[in-house]
Amino acid sequence: MKTTILNIGFDDTDSPKAMCTTYLAYKLVHSLKQDNVKFLDYPRLIRFNPNIPWKTRGNGAVSLKIQTNNPRLVKNKVKKFIRKFSDLKNGANPGVVFYESHFIPKEFTEISKKALWSLISRRQIKNFITKNKLESFHIGNGQGLVGALGAIGYQFDDHTFELLTYRKKSQFGKKRKIVASSVKQMQEKTYPKTFNSFDTKKQKIIFAPRGPDPVFFGIRGEDTNSLLNAAKMIQTKEKPIGHLIFKSNQGTGDHLQNELDITSIKPYSSGIIEGIVSEQPKTLQGGHISFLITKNGYNLRCLIYKPTGITNEASQLIIGDKIRVGGGIRRASVKHGRVLNIEFFEVLKLEKMKILTSPSCIACNKKMKSKGRNQGYECIKCGNKAANKVLQILPRKIKNQLYIPQSSAHRHLTRPQQRIDFKNREIKFNDTSAWFTNYN
Ligand code: ATP
Repeated sequence: MKTTILNIGFDDTDSPKAMCTTYLAYKLVHSLKQDNVKFLDYPRLIRFNPNIPWKTRGNGAVSLKIQTNNPRLVKNKVKKFIRKFSDLKNGANPGVVFYESHFIPKEFTEISKKALWSLISRRQIKNFITKNKLESFHIGNGQGLVGALGAIGYQFDDHTFELLTYRKKSQFGKKRKIVASSVKQMQEKTYPKTFNSFDTKKQKIIFAPRGPDPVFFGIRGEDTNSLLNAAKMIQTKEKPIGHLIFKSNQGTGDHLQNELDITSIKPYSSGIIEGIVSEQPKTLQGGHISFLITKNGYNLRCLIYKPTGITNEASQLIIGDKIRVGGGIRRASVKHGRVLNIEFFEVLKLEKMKILTSPSCIACNKKMKSKGRNQGYECIKCGNKAANKVLQILPRKIKNQLYIPQSSAHRHLTRPQQRIDFKNREIKFNDTSAWFTNYN
């Protein structure tokens, strides 16, 4: 019997009020498994440009790669699930793309890469779908097609995994009761194989959402076994319905690979840029830090928010420091121009911090006293004289290094400290591992 390899990408099924695209994936995988559909890879959870204005939370889309002898049946099921598990009444605009092939053409990958840092219009994606005669389905305005296509086209250069557990329907909206110390211990025991479950600075759980969505908690890490072990260490009385492990670009810093062009900065784009600090950092109301960088005669205002935990370091920058910054461009408003909201900064070269100060006596090594305006300086001990102030070089309180936010301020894509200079090589799909489990 003829079998077909089918890629299924979907996105924009949730709203801040309900649902989650990964929950739909869980339900769909459960159902497809019951139909004996063969999975060829882990479900892929791809995070796109975190600075697009209409995302619900983390701008995540999902794709599946399966083998089936009845693709029509599968496609109909996917559409049925999209209708059933999308929060249409609260603004979800779901989109699905189907693509029958083992290999993914480079045009898909290119558009997916662009979706990581720029804004893709609905027209662009719809044209792409028509031009390539792709089978798709959408409800609403079709915005979800961007993520749906992007999730299929995405090519991993590095990857992580996330084990997501889901709540019973009766628990939706209720407080998640998880023993915080068990999460802390899990993180300590599994380091560096898991990350961002517990914020040690703030001593709080960060691996569980607080909202009404169906996710109970999610553990992120480097391989599926570490995640399965880690999940067993979590103490809670609530019994989730099951878990699904996704392969993901979370924690890879993927959205901050491209160089922003300072001569044509586009709102909502993400990226990195090198420049020279050209205005002394100032502290704004709320403790946020604002300063300018300059490159080739163009200025860009940078903002570092207090919750990042790196504002103290940023306030130590001085005019002339060479830095590389990464982040997202905030749209200009009546009050301010375009601003780069910083997600990291790296000091590349520190300027010497010089101040003009009273000279020291060469004989006594004591600071000389001023004799009055324009009358020079004198050592009160030995009477030595000097005409002018001298330049003194002060030690700098920051170093040539990378400064990244504390984990509670991380975005899904932020590369955590433990993953700096580390990449996962492609891990083969292991269908015998418990990547999907329904606990009932
Ligand atoms: P969650 O993380 O909870 O699943 P979300 O934050 O992913 O939610 P969505 O409701 O999926 O939010 O909304 C994101 C929307 O933005 C989707 O319609 C997606 O197709 C679209 N999108 C993603 N990346 C881009 C991009 N670069 N340009 C334009 N649209 C995009």
